[in-house]
Amino acid sequence: NTLGNTPTDGDLVAWDRDHHLHPWAGTGGFGSDEYMRVNTADGIYLWDAAGKRYIDGPGGMWCTQIGYGRQEMADTISQQVMKMPYASPWSFTTEPAAVLARMIAERTPGDLNTVHFTTGGSTAVDTALRTALFMNKRLGRPEKRIVIGREKGYHGSTFLAATVTGKERFETSFEKAQDLVHFLPDVNPYHRPEGMSVDAWCDAKVADLENLIADVGADRIAAFIAEPILCSGGVIVPPPGYHKRTLEICRANDILYISDEVVTGFGRLGHWFASEDVFGIVPDIITCAKGLTSGYLPLGACIISDTVMKRIAEAPGDDVFYNGYTYSGHPVSCAAAIKNIEIMEREDILGHVQCVTPHFQDRLHQIKEKFSIVGDVRGDGLLGCIECRPGLNVESYEAHVKFGQKLDDACEEMGLLLRPFGNMAVFSPPLIITPSQIDEMFDIMEAGMAQVSKDYDA
Ligand code: PLP
Repeated sequence: NTLGNTPTDGDLVAWDRDHHLHPWAGTGGFGSDEYMRVNTADGIYLWDAAGKRYIDGPGGMWCTQIGYGRQEMADTISQQVMKMPYASPWSFTTEPAAVLARMIAERTPGDLNTVHFTTGGSTAVDTALRTALFMNKRLGRPEKRIVIGREKGYHGSTFLAATVTGKERFETSFEKAQDLVHFLPDVNPYHRPEGMSVDAWCDAKVADLENLIADVGADRIAAFIAEPILCSGGVIVPPPGYHKRTLEICRANDILYISDEVVTGFGRLGHWFASEDVFGIVPDIITCAKGLTSGYLPLGACIISDTVMKRIAEAPGDDVFYNGYTYSGHPVSCAAAIKNIEIMEREDILGHVQCVTPHFQDRLHQIKEKFSIVGDVRGDGLLGCIECRPGLNVESYEAHVKFGQKLDDACEEMGLLLRPFGNMAVFSPPLIITPSQIDEMFDIMEAGMAQVSKDYDA
């Protein structure tokens, strides 16, 4: 019996290895993979079990906006736990849920005023898709049910969210609802054919959407789901003008536009939401999670426009919106989100992100200038990606696809964590990062790049 005994380091390694199945675990590592154990955290830093300090380059998992170790978050959470830790959202509401719904509605663009709380990003996406399908059923057109997703898009790990995820879709044998989804090809301007302008690439990507709608039929398509920046796909920023033009096409075909802001929301690009403030669009539905609580507690939200709500409500006959979770509007998570927004406002974290973004992006772009093995660097706000150039004279293709891991390993030695994705490394540090900490981070990254470059005969 482990209760009451203080586990040793060895116990923890063994118990985690033997009993804990982590997300995206490789089958070859079942029962044998060991993960770095993080013990403590403060600001932008994490400490491992041996006491070594790291800069948290990935910001947890794109989520630790206000940084670690906030006493007032701990106080808020504990006070809410003692006052009202749980109430069924089927029967009741609570002060934190009502206040937070209002605070979110005040910060969303246009008429997006109705908030359905979820347990995280995947369930927010699931809810958005179910809302689109529900609306069409209510409107008497159940055949308008297909969702358009995009290659490299990531929307989560529930059956429906995974169905519309384009990332790794060819490599997985996980079952998906194939009849519900069609995908648009890669929108990454870096992958445009040689000699093609970015404007022409944008035209081609917009045409991809038009052609797919023409092929499938607008009367069969319920929604288009798109991250403003495809983050897990490698921080892919679509070409300028793409967002507005695709939204217009959706509107013209009565296809709901779902903007998945699970990463880009809550300050990552210096705004509460990026859809309108950065990309000039007011979608029909926005999904968010992660930065909503800065990762202190799990919470997501699906935010629906008045227009959509009205269409659902005013369709003939009564029905029930059979969607929701035991922990929808969890009062403790909602209290944490309110405090998170309060802190972000008091410290003007959005203004801070806007202020440090040029320096962050400048240091990122210097990496491309300094290292010939880099094919592309890209990002916006406090989001960045380094992609290794193809066609290098490395020992094998394998070394190319391991670039992200190699860079992460080199940086980890020097106290910086990154997130490797094949031939890319991505990062999204806590939003409170200061200019000198940005330098600390990129100085290590450059030292790591210098080491890794030696393995590649460019
Ligand atoms: N949508 C986007 C854009 C994401 O990046 C993620 C997670 O990384 C999700 C949805 C899924 O969120 P969660 O892991 O909280 O379910």
